[in-house]
Amino acid sequence: MTEVNLFETVKRYVCACALDLKLSSDIEALLKMPMQELHVSIPVRMDDGTLRVFPGYRIQYNDARGPTKGGIRYHPDVTVEEVRALAALMTWKCALYRLPLGGAKGGVICNPKELSVRELERLSRSFVQKIAHFIGPDRDIPAPDVGTNARTMSWMMDEYSKIVGKTSFGVITGKPLSLGGSEGREDATARGGWYVIGEAAKDLGITLKGATVAIQGFGNVGENAAFLAHPLCECRVIAVSDSGGGVVNREGLDIPKLREHKKKTGSIKNSGLGDDITNKQLLGLDVDILIPAALENAISMDNADSIKARIIAEFGNGPITAEADTHLYAKGVRIIPDVLCNAGGVIVSYFEMVQNLNMDHWEQDAVHSRLKMYMTETYRMVYNMATSNNISLRRAAYSRAMEHMVEAMKMRGWI
Ligand code: NAD
Repeated sequence: MTEVNLFETVKRYVCACALDLKLSSDIEALLKMPMQELHVSIPVRMDDGTLRVFPGYRIQYNDARGPTKGGIRYHPDVTVEEVRALAALMTWKCALYRLPLGGAKGGVICNPKELSVRELERLSRSFVQKIAHFIGPDRDIPAPDVGTNARTMSWMMDEYSKIVGKTSFGVITGKPLSLGGSEGREDATARGGWYVIGEAAKDLGITLKGATVAIQGFGNVGENAAFLAHPLCECRVIAVSDSGGGVVNREGLDIPKLREHKKKTGSIKNSGLGDDITNKQLLGLDVDILIPAALENAISMDNADSIKARIIAEFGNGPITAEADTHLYAKGVRIIPDVLCNAGGVIVSYFEMVQNLNMDHWEQDAVHSRLKMYMTETYRMVYNMATSNNISLRRAAYSRAMEHMVEAMKMRGWI
């Protein structure tokens, strides 16, 4: 299998758009570099009394448009290059949607599945002790990502609050409702993705009622994507998978039952709701919509020719390599890129920041309708740019995001 580095992929897109925008080579170089990186060693006392040290990173890619924002990932395969790439993607995403935020990302090399709840808590608190001077409500605001959730965010917010000597809800988003979290944050990424698919289907003349869907990943994003497919778009999810494999049922999976099964057993295996399927088979299913919602580089030149979906909606970050992206675009597959498709999470995180700053609480309907407005208006802007210039949605989204970045850097006198 070909090894692909996500940061190299992101830089390739930047190069292409720099050419389109006729940016000078020094501005292009600036856009291809993170501004600040913090590398830390995180000591954690394990339940058996031994001490383990976990490597961790927080990378602030670019803060020209505002305080930086981005999730924290706990996964054994985290690398500094991956965190750098994800921080860059956060920067383009926030810029594309004109949020007053820059981009950042964090990561810890660990396997959360092998740690007890107490060990996870000690790791999260210890990580915050190491990065507390680097983050802050008006500086850099973390959020959940792969392997972290609202509980992780609560520990982190609490630890930061102890360090600064006051309760600081604003330092982190993705918190539970009882600790200043926002309504609608839990399923925001998936919901936002479906709002965009709804618009894209109109352009493609695809009827969503009964359209078939396969979803890779059954975590925060994938599970909510499966759950919302029917209520939001009347689509039929026929297959889902997680790191342990997948399940397929051509008639449509009973997602509430599958969710219940996963809650009880911790896995989607042996649910009795369909037939077993491998991840590789899931990606090659003949479906209308394929939703990669797991890790990066799931679709590469190794499997691009097996893809039969008409739309690939990138609910996850960086699921398609640059070569596969070019290949699939040429074959006529409509790819809705990550920076456009999965911004719902950061948008509702931004709503959470606004509510925290104002000591306010918005009702769920208000969050949903504002999110829908952000997603559909930005999709329309990117779509119009892509069609009038005969370029992919990804290229249009990157170009628009980079324009917004360059404008901010110029106004600040950086370039
Ligand atoms: P998560 O940890 O909640 O879930 C990840 C899921 O992917 C799990 O079900 C896991 O089993 C599955 N998975 C891992 N490796 C796999 C493989 N090889 N094949 C199939 N499934 C596999 O993480 P999440 O928060 O749902 O994030 C998923 C993706 O969405 C990531 O790319 C993340 O960066 C992106 N994203 C997340 C958010 C958010 O708000 N959580 C926002 C925007 C983008």
